[in-house]
Amino acid sequence: MKSINPYTGELLKDVEEHSEEDIDIIINKGEAAFQGWKKRSIAERSSLMNKAAEILRKNKEKYAEIISLEMGKVISESRAEVEKCAWVCEYYAEKSAGFLKDEPIYLPDRKKAKVVYDPMGIILAVMPWNFPFWQVFRFAAPNLTAGNTGLLKHASNVPQCALAIEEVFTKAGFPKGVFQTLIIGSKEVEKVINHSKVKAVTLTGSEKAGQIISAQAGKQIKKTVLELGGSDPFIVLKDADIEVAAETAAKSRMINFGQSCIAAKRFIIEAPVYDQFIKAFKTHIQNYQSGDPLDEKTGYACMARPDLAEELYQQVKSSIDQGAKVILEGSRPDKGKANFKPYILGDLSPDMPAYSEELFGPVAAVFKVKDEKEAIAMANDSDFGLGSALWTSDAAKADRLAREIESGAVFINSMVASNPHLPFGGIKNSGYGRELAENGIKEFVNIKTVFIG
Ligand code: NAP
Repeated sequence: MKSINPYTGELLKDVEEHSEEDIDIIINKGEAAFQGWKKRSIAERSSLMNKAAEILRKNKEKYAEIISLEMGKVISESRAEVEKCAWVCEYYAEKSAGFLKDEPIYLPDRKKAKVVYDPMGIILAVMPWNFPFWQVFRFAAPNLTAGNTGLLKHASNVPQCALAIEEVFTKAGFPKGVFQTLIIGSKEVEKVINHSKVKAVTLTGSEKAGQIISAQAGKQIKKTVLELGGSDPFIVLKDADIEVAAETAAKSRMINFGQSCIAAKRFIIEAPVYDQFIKAFKTHIQNYQSGDPLDEKTGYACMARPDLAEELYQQVKSSIDQGAKVILEGSRPDKGKANFKPYILGDLSPDMPAYSEELFGPVAAVFKVKDEKEAIAMANDSDFGLGSALWTSDAAKADRLAREIESGAVFINSMVASNPHLPFGGIKNSGYGRELAENGIKEFVNIKTVFIG
């Protein structure tokens, strides 16, 4: 499996893939580890999770560099990602015992029962390259602390990140087999899902992968959590602080060079403030300087793979060919390279890719609406429902409209961001199930009723 620097095109490493026999050995090791791991107390497991946080912080520069080299993220964002992983480890180390404590139930006939939370066994995590550490840690921290064992199938363009994550858990002193990385392509995933010792699957990735993996797991009656794409609306009403909204909007579109499921992708602006917003938004986007991802001054470097840059360009081109207005002229990638310059597109109609599809890169779709009613209708006119941002200075209005938006989260006067304390996940084609917070740790446990007769 090839680890390639998308900024230079240089081959960094050729990582050997696991054979079918290796996969079997790894799964059996995961099951053997589970038998011991599930018997340890949550306190013991939490203490190792705190150790993992320490390892991450101690080796922050090393891991940040691997991330930037392998997928092109600017180094400051890679460092922040490693820090965030340490945070989620510490969060679950502190909270898991409380989240998973037995819950007594007092029945009307004075009989007693309780709910206990048992781990399930090996959980397969199929993960994307865009936040190659964070996506994995937000799966691993709750699940390992709950007593499950983890099997990672990472995206094929980030094998060095995958191995580095396994190293974190090894260095932290987790027993062998509690967290393992499979270096395999997507074709091998079904075999892993079908293995009797693999109990459930979580996927963060595209809708297409979600359809395939959930069908495969469904055939085996194994639970799935799906964290899929998003086309998050960023709604700015006329009473909002437009300057702050525009600056935040640019940040929310440009973070990770636009390759974030919860990046703001559709900017829905009330007519009286449209021109003011667009002017400021465009300036902020233009202020991002391109350069080497390892250079501290760089605002953005490149997309994670040349084919992703090409795919995004085709969405832009097709929209422009169908009549979209170019508000900010970006540029097409050089064939075979991952570079890209941001676009802002307006005058979009439902048949254009920039209206209806997820734009997984630095392309903003803007819409002018006449009032808040039209804004909410436009926000909900999407197959996706992951996050959303709503900008207004009227708190009562914000609360009322937040209920009307079809998404897994609404952030008021802020950009959408993941946080260990907040449940994270989507509705509609953005998937189902939740990660993070108390909800996240309860996805892959057996919620067992114990009745005392
Ligand atoms: P992707 O192509 O679906 O890949 C994600 C993972 O799924 C990779 O490990 C990939 O392996 C694997 N995969 C793909 N097709 C598969 C199949 N048929 N069977 C088994 N495994 C398969 O997604 P991506 O383009 O890398 O990532 C971007 C997408 O992820 C976007 O839509 C984004 O919005 C979404 N995302 C969602 C969240 C969230 O929390 N909701 C977070 C981040 C990203 P290979 O690399 O080997 O193909």
